[in-house]
Amino acid sequence: MKLVRPLVERLHAYVPGEQPKIRGLIKLNTNENPYPPSPKVLRAIKAAVDGRLRLYPNPSAQALREKLAKLHGCGPENIIIGNGSDELLGLATRAFVEPEANRTVSPSRLMVQYFTPSYSLYPVLADIHGAKRNAVPLPADFSLPSTRELKRGGQWDFKAALSLITTPNAPTGRGYSCAELRLLCKAQKGVTVLDEAYVDFAKEDALALALEFPHVLVSRTFSKAYSLCFQRVGYFIGHPALIAALDKVRDSYNVNGLGQVAALATLSDLPHYRKNFRRIVATREQLRRELTGLGFAVLPSQTNFLFAKPPYFPAGEWLEKLRSQKILVRWFNYVETRDYLRITIGSEREAIMLLRAVRSILK
Ligand SMILES: *Cc1c(COP(=O)(O)O)cnc(C)c1O
Repeated sequence: MKLVRPLVERLHAYVPGEQPKIRGLIKLNTNENPYPPSPKVLRAIKAAVDGRLRLYPNPSAQALREKLAKLHGCGPENIIIGNGSDELLGLATRAFVEPEANRTVSPSRLMVQYFTPSYSLYPVLADIHGAKRNAVPLPADFSLPSTRELKRGGQWDFKAALSLITTPNAPTGRGYSCAELRLLCKAQKGVTVLDEAYVDFAKEDALALALEFPHVLVSRTFSKAYSLCFQRVGYFIGHPALIAALDKVRDSYNVNGLGQVAALATLSDLPHYRKNFRRIVATREQLRRELTGLGFAVLPSQTNFLFAKPPYFPAGEWLEKLRSQKILVRWFNYVETRDYLRITIGSEREAIMLLRAVRSILK
């Protein structure tokens, strides 16, 4: 007797960036922040590690939701916290998309829709759920197509049950303006998630759209900008009806207690992090100029990484050449992305080491 569902046997799981433990390795492959959490955050986490670990944490991360609500000018009923924003993206699939097994509803109700290239988790979430994927290619310059272009193209389904839009986009680094996102959201009929994992490195955000439209959710995370990947805390902001639906399908204690403590302490120390963002953006712009000077075609970035087409050798070869110099970057071997490397912005020192390695490879 078969023990595993055929759908699961066929499934290609999400492939996370490598986390090798090699001494001296410069890790520019998973968009982690090069700087540690603030001293206040580390103190708060340490102070929480005692006998209280035996207790369950607050089930809905109430204090954190209240503090975030103040920050974003909404109510706690507009916010749900997840075990990383990845968990919430999965919950959204569960709450809003019919699985394909259910063929009595219109095809749009079965659909998870996204642009390519964007976050490579989205197709996996669709597959796990047995939903239909609709991957709509971005134009060659990776800009966001206008509503009119999407209508003309015919592939984008404005009624898709769930549309996932990474903004600014990954792995391209391209920023979309709130105005153009607003026009798209306005035309959308199904639930639309604006995944703002990198928004703290961008010129503008689209948070207002989650409070304007009842079908729009904005996704944020403490992982990248707030140096808390390890703690797994992310959140969605949106209409109370959508938030309540997600709340019904989550695990009872989905956000671990130390993560709640860490995120709360982070919100009490935002000026520390804003300095950090400026530093990363400055390194990004410097690195972009230098790589351009060395013959790389580097796209403008609104994130903490660069998407760059390297010269002379194929990008896959660059990946190996850099790895042999103990520098790890990310390469996505898909048609639309295989000419590029995605390079996380590290510290100033790591940028210098990267440039040194690139120069020695070019020699
Ligand atoms: C990293 C990332 C996430 C996931 O962040 P977590 O909160 O750590 O789960 C979500 N979306 C995009 C586009 C990302 O790059």
